[in-house]
Amino acid sequence: MVVPNITIIGSLNTDLITRTSRIPAAGETLISSSYDTGCGGKGANQAVACARLSRAKDSRVEEAGCTVNMIGAVGDDMFGRDLINGLVSNGIGVDEVRVKAGEKSGVAVIIVEEESGENRILMSPNANYALRPSDFERLPDPLPDLIILQLEIPLVTVLHILKIAREKDVEVLLNPAPAVKLPREAYSAVHHLVVNETEASIITSTTAQQHSWALWGDHMERLIDLGIRHVLITLGAEGVIYIDTEVQRVLRVLGEKVTVVDSTGAGDTFVGAYAGMLARSGKEFRDFHTMMHVVACANRAAAKTVQKGGVQSAIPWRNEVSLENI
Ligand code: ATP
Repeated sequence: MVVPNITIIGSLNTDLITRTSRIPAAGETLISSSYDTGCGGKGANQAVACARLSRAKDSRVEEAGCTVNMIGAVGDDMFGRDLINGLVSNGIGVDEVRVKAGEKSGVAVIIVEEESGENRILMSPNANYALRPSDFERLPDPLPDLIILQLEIPLVTVLHILKIAREKDVEVLLNPAPAVKLPREAYSAVHHLVVNETEASIITSTTAQQHSWALWGDHMERLIDLGIRHVLITLGAEGVIYIDTEVQRVLRVLGEKVTVVDSTGAGDTFVGAYAGMLARSGKEFRDFHTMMHVVACANRAAAKTVQKGGVQSAIPWRNEVSLENI
């Protein structure tokens, strides 16, 4: 059996996470209460989610329901090597992760204020921004069944990939985060759009307000207008809205009732899980009923992530998500 091939093109970052009782004032030095490093970057997180949701923990890579490959860039440094090793340990193909000489790997410096749980993040994209259109004169051979893109690599590179994906008729999932409004024609290459409420507001130029059907309805109307077949608006604890614009049906999946430890990375888990489930379902069976199942599974997988600390370490494997009763 030929298993579908998913290629994630995006960022790899090392997260440097310090926790503190309060944020230091200008010129002040504080001793942090803890320090951790972790592999991150939206691209890498989504690749890990996709790979883990496609097979059981401790199973062989050959048993996975899809092949997952990552395309991105790291620097020729210790962080870069760790980022690549992290992907490999999840069974992700890294042949096309470029090591950019003279560049440093991407880093996110994260300060978490313990009492409020709020974080402040300073991101240095470094090698991620060295991924240029010239790195993509052509798409990988054989062509992927699905390409996943986010916006943590240069926009010019994303637009170039969208153009060649459209020419080659490759299915594309776009998670436009951090949100930027793309030129309208770029959306014509996109088959699946996954946005959170903030991203939906930016793309549709609406003002973010409290959760309400009036707001979601407004977002839906404007997103449908972009002409994308599958539109998903993630709503945090409130779950997700899925719209199949071709059959003109809307699905609301309620959020799972869980105890939240750390919601960072929920969106990336949702995207990776959705893509993995989608690939397994096969192109010929994409009716609304199948899509309901795919969306509900992704919602459940993402809810699992928020119950643990960390980002990639919190992403569940397929056997850790109950896919019953969906
Ligand atoms: P992040 O930037 O933190 O990774 P996001 O803002 O991109 O996340 P959200 O809409 O917050 O994305 O969450 C994505 C999905 O994760 C939701 O649609 C839902 O399925 C799940 N989720 C997030 N928060 C919760 C929660 N508190 N309880 C249950 N499920 C949640």
